[in-house]
Amino acid sequence: MTASARGKLLWRLADLIERDAEELARIEVRDNGKLYAEMLGQLQYIPEWFRYFGGLADKIEGGVLPIDKAEMFSYTKREPLGVVVAITPWNSPLLLLAWKMAPALAAGNTIVIKPSEFTSCSTLEFARLFKEAGFPDGVVNTVTGLGSEIGAALVENPRVAKIAFTGGDATGAAVYAAAAKSIKHVTLELGGKSPNIVFADANLENAVKGAISGIFAATGQTCIAGSRLLVQRPIYEEMCQRLVAFAARAKLGDPMDLVTQVGPITTQAQREKVINYIEIARGEGARCLLGGGTPDAPELAKGWFVEPTIFADVTSQMRIAREEVFGPVLSIIPFEDENEAIEIANDTIYGLAAGVWTSDIRRAFAMANLIKAGTVWVNTYRAVSYMAPFGGYKQSGIGRESGQAMINEYLQTKCVWISLAESSPDPFVMR
Ligand code: NDP
Repeated sequence: MTASARGKLLWRLADLIERDAEELARIEVRDNGKLYAEMLGQLQYIPEWFRYFGGLADKIEGGVLPIDKAEMFSYTKREPLGVVVAITPWNSPLLLLAWKMAPALAAGNTIVIKPSEFTSCSTLEFARLFKEAGFPDGVVNTVTGLGSEIGAALVENPRVAKIAFTGGDATGAAVYAAAAKSIKHVTLELGGKSPNIVFADANLENAVKGAISGIFAATGQTCIAGSRLLVQRPIYEEMCQRLVAFAARAKLGDPMDLVTQVGPITTQAQREKVINYIEIARGEGARCLLGGGTPDAPELAKGWFVEPTIFADVTSQMRIAREEVFGPVLSIIPFEDENEAIEIANDTIYGLAAGVWTSDIRRAFAMANLIKAGTVWVNTYRAVSYMAPFGGYKQSGIGRESGQAMINEYLQTKCVWISLAESSPDPFVMR
């Protein structure tokens, strides 16, 4: 297939996703319990990844080298890797699939998708659209089954050229090690313990909304959760009060209901993990300002709900400040000045994202330079785009997704040398 034809297929797929966005969003909600408003927003945005990378498909070019040898012609080609396996988690199955699938197909690879067994329905329904769009059989494939069995088998399969994985860091490390056995290309989007840093000169109303969206949107089940809120001492108590007042009003309920603001946790195991971390935080001496358990309203009894929970007086040494909870649990940590904010922000094995709230432009640039994270938001939080490279520093991952250059994660370079000489030179000397 020509590159232009590939691009057109991706555009056609984008149109079909747009047509079916509401139905696909409903399936996502039934699978993972996240808010319909959030999932519909994602589904309406996903087509842009396919259009962006569809547009790039026929702009993947090699070059002719101004080679430094007489009678030699050299050029490069950009070639696909082969079979790409996309392993996706349960929190945003189709969005995180689009981030992998759009560049992989634009680059000319084929793809095998392994969705999480907890949330495979939306991917299966999505798969119907590949045929309708006109993708040749075998180009896009979906395999369901447990990660430990099917996922592991795919990672070990020597015919697979690349693994594009999003999920937890322990699984990511296992995937990385297994992929190393056959020297596969790997991109990993893993966990985070992202600092959201509020300076005393910030617009506090906006900072409160940013902190809330960082941790309670998606019930905290997002790799970019701003789970550590660093607050400068002069506004520390005021921020705590404002956050509690705002979060206490958050409406828990049926995720399909458009007035619901906080839905349930996706899996029972994940809810147990979150509750366990809340107990750990209490045991470590963090001050619980809000929540700290499961809600007792009878209409919530059938869901795996956890109350929006806020801990104050957290220190960097506490496990609640070091380990990814992946739930609606906020840790507030006080700091004195920029130096201490940077020290605390970077005191983590992770480096996925960070937020900075300030009205001082010098400080905004200084913080953006010094924070060790793949994404820094200033006076905003949780913004992503098909144009914006996304990925982690340190143990938050390897490689990036989205953005033009990221098509290179799915390509390899071949250099072709053609001698134009009449006779070959001395065979015992390197050319
Ligand atoms: P995992 O990292 O285990 O799951 C991610 C994907 O990997 C799923 O498709 C899973 O399949 C698959 N998988 C699991 N084991 C293997 C394996 N050995 N080889 C290949 N693929 C495998 O997430 P969990 O559900 O276990 O969540 C654990 C923690 O990870 C969460 O508590 C959270 O902290 C974090 N997490 C982070 C995410 C992020 O976006 N960064 C997303 C999800 C979780 P299956 O589900 O079918 O087992």
